[in-house]
Amino acid sequence: MVNLVTGGAGFLGSHLCDRLLERGQEVICLDNFFTGRRSNVVHLLGNPKFELIRHDVVDPFKLEVDRIYNLACPASPVHYQYNPIKTAKTSAMGAINCLGLAKRVGARILQASTSEVYGDPEVHPQPEEYRGNVNPIGLRACYDEGKRYAETLFFDYHRENKVDIRVVRIFNTFGPRMLADDGRVVSNFIVQALKGEDLTVYGDGSQTRSFCYVDDLLEGMIGVMEQEKTVGPVNLGNPNEFTIKELAQRVLEKVGSSSKLIENPLPADDPTQRKPDISLAKEILDWTPKVELEEGLDRTIPHFRALLES
Ligand code: NAD
Ligand code: UDP
Repeated sequence: MVNLVTGGAGFLGSHLCDRLLERGQEVICLDNFFTGRRSNVVHLLGNPKFELIRHDVVDPFKLEVDRIYNLACPASPVHYQYNPIKTAKTSAMGAINCLGLAKRVGARILQASTSEVYGDPEVHPQPEEYRGNVNPIGLRACYDEGKRYAETLFFDYHRENKVDIRVVRIFNTFGPRMLADDGRVVSNFIVQALKGEDLTVYGDGSQTRSFCYVDDLLEGMIGVMEQEKTVGPVNLGNPNEFTIKELAQRVLEKVGSSSKLIENPLPADDPTQRKPDISLAKEILDWTPKVELEEGLDRTIPHFRALLES
């Protein structure tokens, strides 16, 4: 089995490459290194079943593969808003190029979609049937609408060209190999706590998120790829919900830091709540996250400590 992982040098992508190789499969990792790093996959470079290609998914490519995991897209607001037009192109043209390849070679293809397709949700928790509340002209739209359009393309290629698709909607996931300057809340808080800096809570910190540990997420993602019951979309995330202030407190306790919390302005269109309804994933995969926030932090903090020390 030959897998193509676009965005394979990023946080989730590099862990996915590890997992697929552990299963004895071949992996082609394709990445333009915008937010990905060679260091995330350097340990795989000597593996004869692993291949690394520097390429941008916006430009077409030809490969012979059995499975395509389409993860290429910056995921943190800081990075996806850096060049919003490029972000929209990456989602749209990346999906078109990957789907075209899947159609040509008969590969099964999975899209890494996101809870952001639900926008600032009025339904809580969010089931897959909920159609979302996204501002189409806001600062987050390049990402949210880009991912929504990619889902549209996936389902049209499925209906029109019988492409064998899978779509997962990923909720906030964290773990080792997130970038220290990624801007996402878990990495920001850990790095700030380790440096003894104030923790930057945006708004009053009453907004909620549900945090999934990377190992759980990948088990679900590969599970969805390999099951035959549904093409999706399937929500993947940890349904345990925390306010951002609660997260900050947990990080301070775990790091053993006496840093203070300071309130920064809330970014525009920041969703007020988010929690996945994972009934479908439970039903089709018997999947449920095993690593809770505290244990996930215990596994993630040493990564950032080592990063800062080096
Ligand atoms: P990440 O930024 O670490 O990884 C994205 C990877 O895609 C990077 O390696 C980057 O260099 C690469 N990339 C970006 N644009 C590209 C392009 N045009 N061509 C080729 N490669 C490109 O982010 P991540 O957290 O690992 O997210 C991976 C995927 O999962 C993304 O599609 C993201 O939208 C999705 N997702 C992640 C989360 C999460 O909480 N981590 C939540 C929802 C969805
Ligand atoms: N956030 C925060 N401080 C930070 C970074 C983020 O309070 O230093 C908040 C952010 O406003 C949002 C939540 O944490 O409400 C999650 O942000 P993240 O960027 O990690 O993910 P997303 O908003 O895409 O869920």
